[in-house]
Amino acid sequence: MSLLLVGTMAFDALETPFGKVDRIIGGSATYAAWAASCFTKPIQLVSIVGGDFPDTEKTELEERSVNFEGVEVVPDGKCFFWSGKYHMDLNTRDTLVTELNVLADFNPKVPAGYQGADYVMLGNLAPGIQISVLNQLEKKPKLVIMDTMNYWIDTAMDDLTKVLGMIDLLMINDSEARQLTGEHSLVKAAKKIQGMGTKYVIIKKGEHGALLFYGDKIFSAPAMPLEDVFDPTGAGDTFAGGFIGYLARIDDISFEAMKAAIIMGSSLASYCVEKFGPIRMKEINAADIQNRVNEFISLANFEIRN
Ligand code: AMP
Repeated sequence: MSLLLVGTMAFDALETPFGKVDRIIGGSATYAAWAASCFTKPIQLVSIVGGDFPDTEKTELEERSVNFEGVEVVPDGKCFFWSGKYHMDLNTRDTLVTELNVLADFNPKVPAGYQGADYVMLGNLAPGIQISVLNQLEKKPKLVIMDTMNYWIDTAMDDLTKVLGMIDLLMINDSEARQLTGEHSLVKAAKKIQGMGTKYVIIKKGEHGALLFYGDKIFSAPAMPLEDVFDPTGAGDTFAGGFIGYLARIDDISFEAMKAAIIMGSSLASYCVEKFGPIRMKEINAADIQNRVNEFISLANFEIRN
């Protein structure tokens, strides 16, 4: 099943307790495309880059059946730039710099060849751009999922509220869910988000796993306890890309399928954090993913005898 993916393609400067990089490829669409392409093809990308986006990165993604027709190139512009510094717990980070660059004037165009996508992921991006993409779709997709972050809660709340009424599933991390709803309890926060029009809510809790809410149902997924986490950047986008890529592959949007998709997304995210940027995502293969999935299954599997 075809998957339409919208998000940023960026350069990041990152500092973790284990090292520092000044300029590495990043962006929500980049991570999500690497992850989703583990499961499904083609992937139809909508994004914008400057003339500084490396051809090699484009070629590597194209080799994974990622289509760049919807990626606008501004030859004399610069890619979105983000810089972040992680605290010792690696669950929290400070944004040091956000330079929108080419993103500031982005007016996305969904190419005719992308019409008819059944699965749509609105990666972390300005909510106004997410709305514009949805408004251009001629056929209602089977599933639209979306990611966001504190930057957009702080700067674009009106558009964010609007887009929440247009999508099926919101992915958000715990602190952002609390910020968005003013609720400390994640159960109450999820209910409030559902009240805004989003049927499904996934709240990510970093190294503590993720919760899926649908009506009164809740599924709790563990996170893989890893000995070494090197760089958490992109874990959320990788999780989201893996989640929807897997659903597109099995073409099933039931609650049961979503539970499995969360484990798939978590498996990929657990690889992503092992190296800086998307480096690790370029190395892993289907057997690696299966191994991690098996570890997840045994991690949460138990029997009770009476
Ligand atoms: P994550 O760690 O999953 O939240 O994703 C980190 C990625 O999101 C980085 O590669 C950044 O380039 C990108 N990013 C950071 N801030 C934003 C933002 N405000 N909007 C969209 N993408 C962003």
